[in-house]
Amino acid sequence: MDTKLHWHCYLSARRDAPGLESHEWLLQPPARIRETFYDHYSVRRWMLDKYDRHASIGSVGRPADAKDERRLQALDALKIGDDVVWVEFRLGLPVVVIAAICCPNRVDHLCPLAVQDEAQPA
Ligand SMILES: [Zn+2]
Repeated sequence: MDTKLHWHCYLSARRDAPGLESHEWLLQPPARIRETFYDHYSVRRWMLDKYDRHASIGSVGRPADAKDERRLQALDALKIGDDVVWVEFRLGLPVVVIAAICCPNRVDHLCPLAVQDEAQPA
């Protein structure tokens, strides 16, 4: 099992997102993981790319500096090994969730990729 800190990244419509606690993402099927990164710079770059592609289009009334606020907030959280979950609302379109979840997590879930490896026959 991989004990070095890493982040599993998820992109989802809100209706497919797990419960309110961010760590619950780790209980989702491993196939839902879009990317896994071992450095927070890559996590942040991935999140901002997904934000540009899926969340910022068509938003109404969003302050121009919303992305900058998110960039700073994500950097602070990721540096201390915390989860970052962005939930985006767009008029008339499904809500988008962009999530980066620490693994191992402070909540004691197994790494979803390790669970997947154990489930497959050698
Ligand atoms: Zn993991």
